Amino acid sequence: MNAPQNERVIIIGSGPAGLTAAIYTARANLSPLVIEGEPSSTSDQPGGQLMLTTEVENFPGFPEGIMGPELMTNFRAQAERFGARFLTEKATRVDFSARPFRVWVRDTEYIADSIIVSTGARSLMLGLPEEQRLIGHGLSTCATCDGFFFRGQHIAVVGGGDSAIEEATFLTKFADKVSIIHRRDEFRASKIMQDRAFSNPKIEVIWNSTVTAVLGESKVDGVELTNTVDGSTSTLPVTGVFIAIGHRPNTDLFAGILDMDETGYLVTEAGSTRTNIEGVFACGDVQDHTYRQAITAAGSGCMAAIDTERWLETQHG
Ligand SMILES: Cc1cc2nc3c(=O)[nH]c(=O)nc-3n(C[C@H](O)[C@H](O)[C@H](O)COP(=O)(O)OP(=O)(O)OC[C@H]3O[C@@H](n4cnc5c(N)ncnc54)[C@H](O)[C@@H]3O)c2cc1C
Repeated sequence: MNAPQNERVIIIGSGPAGLTAAIYTARANLSPLVIEGEPSSTSDQPGGQLMLTTEVENFPGFPEGIMGPELMTNFRAQAERFGARFLTEKATRVDFSARPFRVWVRDTEYIADSIIVSTGARSLMLGLPEEQRLIGHGLSTCATCDGFFFRGQHIAVVGGGDSAIEEATFLTKFADKVSIIHRRDEFRASKIMQDRAFSNPKIEVIWNSTVTAVLGESKVDGVELTNTVDGSTSTLPVTGVFIAIGHRPNTDLFAGILDMDETGYLVTEAGSTRTNIEGVFACGDVQDHTYRQAITAAGSGCMAAIDTERWLETQHG
C-alpha cells in the first residue's frame, strides 16, 4: 500500500468552526484536508448543527436572515475556492502520541503535522420520531437562537436543570407564557435559578410529566404529556417546544488522548485553541459549553487556523 501523503493540517469536522478554520488555513496555503463527516439525519453530518435548522437570523452579514443549510453550503464553497480538500467520511481513530499525527477513516490512514478538532456537539433529544420533522418548525434546542420567533406565543420548555430554567426565563422576554415540563416533582436547578423562575408570572411548571409526542404535521401545535405518577395523558396546546435536557460534545474519538472536562468537552488553554497536545488545536462547540453559537464557533475556528499556522512556522521555519 502507498504511504499516506503527509498533510500540513487535517481538520476533523465541518460545522462553522471547521469550515472557518478551512477557509483561513487554505488562504494561508496550507491546503487543509477536511474530514467533514458523513451524511446523516442528525447534527452529526457535513455542515454540522445548522444543517438541522431553518432560518438563521443572528449570523452577521445577512440582514434578511439565511437558511442554515445555505449558510453552511456557502462556508464550504468559500473554503473550497481557496484549495481546501474534503473527505466525506468520519474519522474513526486517531493517534496523537507522536508526530506526524495519525488519523484513520476505517482502514485508511492519513497523517498530518497538525490537527484541528472541530467535531462539535449535539443537543440531547427526547427520542421521538417527529423531532426530526419538526426541528426548526417550532421545535428548538436553542433559546438564544430561536426565542425571537415566538413573540406573544405560548411555548413549552422540557427539562429541569439550570439550562432549562435559564432558557425558560430568557424565553419570557418573547413568549406570553412558558410552561416548563419536568418529569419529577422538583428541579435539579440551583435554588437561585428556581426562585427566579417561580417569581416570574409568565412561567408555569407542569410537574411529574414527560412529553410523549410533539403534535403537528408541518409545525408544532401542541405536545402530548404523560403523567409519570398515574400514567394519564393530556394535550398542551403550544406553538413552540424547547428541548433543554443537555448537550453532548462529540469527543469519544479523543477519550484518553485529549484533556476533557467532567462532561467530555475538550479543554483548551485560556485565550487560545491549544489542547494538551502540542500541534493539536480545538475549536467550536466541542470545547465551548457556554456560548454555543455559529458565530462564536466560526470565531474560534479562525483562532485555531491562526494558532496552527503560527505553530507550524515554529516547526518548519
Ligand atoms: C436546531 C439548531 C438551531 C441552531 N440555530 C442557531 C442559530 O440560529 N444561530 C446560531 O448562531 N447558532 C445556532 N445553533 C448553534 C450552532 O449550530 C452551533 O453553535 C454551531 O453549529 C457549532 O459549530 P461547530 O463547528 O463547533 O460544530 P457543529 O456544527 O456541531 O459541527 C460538527 C461537525 O463535526 C463533524 N464530526 C463529528 N464527529 C466527526 C468525526 N468523527 N469525523 C469527522 N467529522 C465529525 C460533524 O459531522 C459536523 O460536521 C443552532 C443549533 C441547532 C441544533
